[in-house]
Amino acid sequence: MTPPRNSNAARDIANVLHPYTDARAHQKNGPLVITRGEGVRVFDEQGNAYIETVAGLWCASLGFDNERLVQAALKQMRQLPFYHAFTGRSHEPAIDLAEMLIERAPVPMSKVFFCNSGSEANDTAVKMIWYFNNAIGRPEKKKIIARIKGYHGVTVASASLTGLPYNHKLFDLPIQGILHAGTPHYYHCALPGESEDQFTTRLANELEEMIVREGPETVAAFFAEPIMGAGGVIVPPAGYFEKIQAVLRRHDVLFVADEVICGFGRTGSYWGSQTFNMQPDILTCAKALSSSFLPISAVMVNDRVFQGLADGSAGLGTFGHGYTYSGHPVPAAVAVETLKIYDEMDLVGHVRKVGPVMQEGLRRRFSDHPLVGEIRGVGMIGAVEFVSNKETRANFDPAVKIGPRLVKIAEGHGLIMRALPGDGIAFSPPLIITAEEVNDMLDRFGRALDDLT
Ligand code: PLP
Repeated sequence: MTPPRNSNAARDIANVLHPYTDARAHQKNGPLVITRGEGVRVFDEQGNAYIETVAGLWCASLGFDNERLVQAALKQMRQLPFYHAFTGRSHEPAIDLAEMLIERAPVPMSKVFFCNSGSEANDTAVKMIWYFNNAIGRPEKKKIIARIKGYHGVTVASASLTGLPYNHKLFDLPIQGILHAGTPHYYHCALPGESEDQFTTRLANELEEMIVREGPETVAAFFAEPIMGAGGVIVPPAGYFEKIQAVLRRHDVLFVADEVICGFGRTGSYWGSQTFNMQPDILTCAKALSSSFLPISAVMVNDRVFQGLADGSAGLGTFGHGYTYSGHPVPAAVAVETLKIYDEMDLVGHVRKVGPVMQEGLRRRFSDHPLVGEIRGVGMIGAVEFVSNKETRANFDPAVKIGPRLVKIAEGHGLIMRALPGDGIAFSPPLIITAEEVNDMLDRFGRALDDLT
């Protein structure tokens, strides 16, 4: 149906090129225009309410209204709407936020560098690693290993780290020197008869073989999300990260934890690194850092990395990297307020109480469904995967995949959902969601699933 002339939908179709959207199909289908938010819900132009089952893009942890965050932004805008951090300039919101992050870090960290998005944070981490190895006199140690199905963003370097085909194809990516190791998805990637323990040992061995094949003196770092989010909500089996980290330590390869989704309570610990026993040298975070009220991200580095960066910058007279808006005072002030709210409401404790309602509810209600292959997740992040054959675990052909069809049907049941690669639906609601709202979300999801079958 053609939208009325001058409607938001018509003006959108005429003027906006959307991220992650089939541009040709959008010309026909048009947008879903969202006008306001309240708690875990957003509302469209017609006033229809939707539970946001992925908190927007796994990010709006405090939901879609919060007066304290509004006031924090207003106060800072009135006092100092902008100042930068280049050449040693500073301001209190960035100082406060850096201090709070260091205090809360999962392992001892030394310094915080601010950026505006998860992609920029990972891009910055890549550049820091290259700079670090140049500064400490090992310029050949530059290759970076990420993982197939990992998601680290869309800038040239972070899209190269991402291990998904549509982020590489037609973009001439990945860039040289970025490699991808295996995915820790036991359900799909284990060999017949392989136990979880054997599977994770094999993945660690394969990583080590890759490092040895490339030459350990050329491999600088390994990037991993605690749980792979956008690549499919893939939860690593117990023991995986311990084995991977032993390999990294043997070859002096830096470990970067991408906590862009898992940070700030999502997995039922403050950091995903704590849930999965990860000890990163560098940690990137974004999204829930400000509950997404304003864009801000951060890279934390440990003292070893900081000392290398400091040596390099002392030699050159500068660390030649930074964004105009690195540590912008308004998002930094909002992030400070966000972290205070997390502490005051004991957000991690809340996830530990309500997360199991979602995890058990998903498994109890949908495991036996004829289309459901696997249900996975931890804390307040989960996924339902659809298969055409429970025995072979094969997904449906792209043209008849369940996930995208279900997303459309679920809108009619008051849910905004997100389809996953392979074939699945993600669950990553605002962390403030109540047990009652979780059950409402699962009831609606069940009805959407009934409509499909
Ligand atoms: N890293 C992870 C784990 C992500 O999930 C994302 C985005 O979804 C990013 C990085 C990129 O963040 P952004 O979209 O803010 O650039």
